[in-house]
Amino acid sequence: MIGLKDLIGQKRPVQLLANALQNGKMPHAWLFTGEDGVGKKTAALALAMISNCQNPDLTGRPASPADGQSRGWPRACGSCRPCKKIAAGVHPEVRVLAPSGPNIRIDRIRSLCSDLALKSDERSWRFVIIDPAGRMNAEAANALLKILEEPPEHTVFVLIAADTGDLLPTIVSRCQHIRFHPITPVDIERYLRDQCQTDPQQAMIVAALARGSLGRAIEMAAQDWSARRDFFIRQLSKLPAQPRGLRHVLAEIMAKDKDRIEANLEIMKNWYRDLAVYSAAPELLYNRDISDQVYRSGSQTTMDQILEKTDAIAAAEKALTTNANARLVMDELVEALAVQGGKTY
Ligand SMILES: [Zn+2]
Repeated sequence: MIGLKDLIGQKRPVQLLANALQNGKMPHAWLFTGEDGVGKKTAALALAMISNCQNPDLTGRPASPADGQSRGWPRACGSCRPCKKIAAGVHPEVRVLAPSGPNIRIDRIRSLCSDLALKSDERSWRFVIIDPAGRMNAEAANALLKILEEPPEHTVFVLIAADTGDLLPTIVSRCQHIRFHPITPVDIERYLRDQCQTDPQQAMIVAALARGSLGRAIEMAAQDWSARRDFFIRQLSKLPAQPRGLRHVLAEIMAKDKDRIEANLEIMKNWYRDLAVYSAAPELLYNRDISDQVYRSGSQTTMDQILEKTDAIAAAEKALTTNANARLVMDELVEALAVQGGKTY
């Protein structure tokens, strides 16, 4: 069964969506906002599936109080033809519009318009999920606004965005807005342990570091993230004493691991952030499981050094967004990170 229960730690959004399904009052357009990985797209697909399922269960009340919110919400059967097609991403009436290149351009919205002008299969609810809606360029956004002003029958738009500020106010005002909140570390930890069979220690660390994003946490757990973190922290502490040639091996490793370059920089940022906060607020450490190591390194590093290194990482992140040569950016970064007390060796 696939349904609203799959939205972890989003009680209020789930309640609002359940009401719409149960009362048969589906708005023409939803706007789901919130950080990446908190369940916005899962919610959109669950809505599409429950609305199109041939055998949905809309009862939506917990079978017993002990069930809490976990089992009683509306759900799709998951095994009828529409459910299978939606799960496989091939249902003709459930479209996901994503950018091809930097933007969602007007030709995509135009071709959507002509598709929507065709008569739909009466038995289906058409869903148009735009993710992320903030990537529509101005022309595309204006074209969408026209559709939202005269919405076609039996069609539901779901716009996904980080924040309402990403969209034209005129579009926002046409949508029913639901804000998805960051998921608590406790919920993330439980999900990783129970649904992904993540080792409990790893689940705890990843949950503390995922900043409320279940998507990010799952990705981190799948990539054996804690081993990678330990590797980078070891390298960072060795950098100042290493000869230049060896430092650049680290730069090469980082530059080659293109898909994880941002995640690896994030590990470094979190490390320096912990060195900055450990003495004032030890309870806020991200890398709580290795707090001894944080204390040791923190006591040997000044706040000025931490700020310089954090700046260097931010500069590298920025350079990477401009298509700079990753190897050169990483070379420069490791040199900046190796500086200790004003000199490198
Ligand atoms: Zn079904």
